[in-house]
Amino acid sequence: MIKRTEGFAGLYIHFPYCIHKCSYCDFFSVGIGKNPVPDRENLLESYLNELDVRIQNNPELLKLQFDTIFFGGGTPSLAGADFIAKFLEKARSYLSISPDAEISLEANPEDISKTLLSELHNSGINRINTGIQSFKESHLKTLDRFSNIDQYNSVMDLLSGSEIKRFGADLIYGIPGQTKKEFYEDVNRLISSGVTHLSLYSLTVEKGTPYSRSLKDGSARAPQEELQTEILLELPGFLKQKNYHWYEVSNYCKDGEESRHNLKYWTMQFYLALGPGAHGFIPAGRYANTRSVENYLAGKFSQTYTKSEIQEEMAISLLRLRCPVEIDTFLDILPERKFILQKKINAWAHNGHCRYENGIFQWNDESILNLDSFIFEFATAE
Ligand code: SF4
Repeated sequence: MIKRTEGFAGLYIHFPYCIHKCSYCDFFSVGIGKNPVPDRENLLESYLNELDVRIQNNPELLKLQFDTIFFGGGTPSLAGADFIAKFLEKARSYLSISPDAEISLEANPEDISKTLLSELHNSGINRINTGIQSFKESHLKTLDRFSNIDQYNSVMDLLSGSEIKRFGADLIYGIPGQTKKEFYEDVNRLISSGVTHLSLYSLTVEKGTPYSRSLKDGSARAPQEELQTEILLELPGFLKQKNYHWYEVSNYCKDGEESRHNLKYWTMQFYLALGPGAHGFIPAGRYANTRSVENYLAGKFSQTYTKSEIQEEMAISLLRLRCPVEIDTFLDILPERKFILQKKINAWAHNGHCRYENGIFQWNDESILNLDSFIFEFATAE
């Protein structure tokens, strides 16, 4: 059950480098090959400079308790454990960070080794997620991912044997040429490794990516949309039998193993985000940083804060959750709109799209297929 909480926040650090820029990816990142990370020391200094300036601009940040930290990107496993340890030590001197904070890091399979996992554990990382996407080399090639397939064969064993007990992985389904059987073999492989968390994404075409351009000029094949719908509807039941529950459109976990950090995005909590390409939401408002490493290292990051439209925020965050949500406690934020929004949810419940009883809301499985139109209806209800 998701409840509204206040006074807590997450800290997100966007690490801007990857070995290779995958053609379908629209996150901000720069491919650097197998070269050492450029400007490592400058980058660390720039994160701390941004942190300092954001606190000066928004002293309210000092009143918040930071109970999650997330190193994302990009590929933060390229940064090295010493970088992570130094950043965390400094961040603790600026912000109030809970002693039992969830501290997650995204790692590419190629970077994972017994030594790195042990060093990351010693640096304070207590949750790790790896972007497997597929165990089959031909599908990784279709996705234009850099991959060392030998490493893919050992990575889940390394993770399950590590001291970092909370670990998860991402897979993509609907890749051109991928069969349903192959996808489920991948899912089973993750489950047998004991993952506590699964992120299962359908391949999508993001505007402006090389993949979308290749589709237009006919040099790439489109995602298999019918298969994606079939899989999306089957997965919850399949995973329930294996003791993983569906809590967000693309995310499943064992009991109590939700990503506490990602839940901040879906429950309208604050998150202070640092780094090039990072988007944050803090008491002063929302902001989006430059998608240029050079500009970021030169100290140019956004100090323009936009006030959010709460009804729209609720629509694009809360409605992504598949688990039960105490939605009335969120609607209390907008007392003048509460009745209208309750009427909208009641109409959905009446038409069999969701359950809504005693202020608790939960989508039915099939409703996730039409989520975009429900989000629009909620955001524009009046
Ligand atoms: S490794 Fe991940 S973040 Fe980097 S380009 Fe590929 S999908 Fe994007």
